[in-house]
Amino acid sequence: MRRRTLNKINLSERNRKDREKKKKQLEEHRKNMEIIKNSPVTDLIKYPEYKEAFDYVDNLFPGSYVKNINLYKTGAKLLEKLGYGGAGGFYDKETKVIVIASYQLTNKNRYQYGYNFNIKASITKDEVIAHELCHYCFAEEGGVSFSREIQEEFAYGWTLGYLREKGYTDDEIIKNNYFPFMVDMSSDKALKYVLADNNISKKEYNSFSEYKRRMFFKKHGKKWHKKRKELATQKAKELIELYSRKLIEGTNCTKNITKYNRFDIMDI
Ligand SMILES: [Zn+2]
Repeated sequence: MRRRTLNKINLSERNRKDREKKKKQLEEHRKNMEIIKNSPVTDLIKYPEYKEAFDYVDNLFPGSYVKNINLYKTGAKLLEKLGYGGAGGFYDKETKVIVIASYQLTNKNRYQYGYNFNIKASITKDEVIAHELCHYCFAEEGGVSFSREIQEEFAYGWTLGYLREKGYTDDEIIKNNYFPFMVDMSSDKALKYVLADNNISKKEYNSFSEYKRRMFFKKHGKKWHKKRKELATQKAKELIELYSRKLIEGTNCTKNITKYNRFDIMDI
């Protein structure tokens, strides 16, 4: 009985700490957004700049009025300094603005236990904008999901038509646009395969020391990287197949009369 009470106290204490942490992060984020908006290296981009990207997303989601959105282009170094490095851009739900980097810095997070498993991609600024505008529409059209995977699938999926209009083949789209995200998303699954191949349980792996993990990646890193690229390619192909159909059907979402099925995007 006593133990249960104690657990309860611990739990509410933890919840309180979590809430405080989130509140602090949000405050920090708000401050950062102000810094970005007011920085001399930031430019406000307005339609018809990047017209094609805006028009494409506007045609898909006419009820979201993407042309009215505030879009800031800012220094990649500033973004990195504020902790948004590595991203080509992001959509801020709170202030409903999109921030994109003036150029893409190399992602430093691609190292795994000292080994570089780099994924080369080349996404142009207009493509980043089309992608971020889709994120905006996801929220505007009433999409709610805490899963990064679902949100990203929506954005990557709907930009398919834009990328095809630019003349890219599906293989080029996978390689240059979808790969960094898809490979990242496939990392855990690929690790499970490699662990199973070597008769190591996930529990055992989790108890590995830093040194042992390093050794593990030295020995099996290449296989792991190959596997996650394989899984990512498969996933990307499935996404393309699904959204090829969706692009023919259309989004079906004009605000207020929306019959948009939110679960649609989970069916891959
Ligand atoms: Zn995204």
